[in-house]
Amino acid sequence: MTTAQQERTAEDLKKLAEQAGRDLEDASALEILTWAAETFGKRFCVTSSMEDAVVAHLASRAMPGVDVVFLDTGYHFEETIGTRDAVDAVMDVNVITLTPRRTVAEQDAEYGPKLHDRNPDLCCKLRKVQPLEEGLKDYQAWATGLRRDESPTRANTPVVGWDEKRQKVKISPIARWTQDDVDAYVTEHGVLTNPLLMDGYASVGCAPCTRRVLQGEDARAGRWAGRSKTECGLHG
Ligand code: SF4
Repeated sequence: MTTAQQERTAEDLKKLAEQAGRDLEDASALEILTWAAETFGKRFCVTSSMEDAVVAHLASRAMPGVDVVFLDTGYHFEETIGTRDAVDAVMDVNVITLTPRRTVAEQDAEYGPKLHDRNPDLCCKLRKVQPLEEGLKDYQAWATGLRRDESPTRANTPVVGWDEKRQKVKISPIARWTQDDVDAYVTEHGVLTNPLLMDGYASVGCAPCTRRVLQGEDARAGRWAGRSKTECGLHG
């Protein structure tokens, strides 16, 4: 890590994010990730839900051995855990699995069973938001796979922005991509994808809160279906 990277303040990072957001709006995903790798070095990571490994693959081209952070909520489909293990085994990345402070059994004992049905915001806070905040502590920048076309709530996602909540640079290198762009990249590079994407799921989260999508629904419609919740709090 360079001295310049070590000495950056939150104000420095915010200015970097705002400038890069303007400069890189039309850049390719690989150019954006190359900028991130050169700017932040080991203080940059990719987060992945293991829906697919597209951003991890792009990031590994920009920075071989890049940290790929996965949140193991304890509620994942076995296909998701299998995708995480396959990414770890075959890609030039360093997979880091974050876990919540409580196991599912410990959470059930403290809050009662199926908290995800009764209070999904609290469940997401305990199993996703808190562990991610703790896991990102030593990074200055993190990359996500957010895309503008996934849902109306993501339509204004910047390619590089400022994560005020965590005081970090937040990078969404495929923000401008469509699903067709993702599919084309997967095919061209043989990228690993979660098998559930071939089984009617368009967006893959925790098993109790994810269903298949119907024709014509947006990709996020299968997440927390029937509940007044569209995001887990990681991106809000
Ligand atoms: Fe809990 Fe559902 Fe959120 Fe997963 S997605 S942390 S099961 S509420």
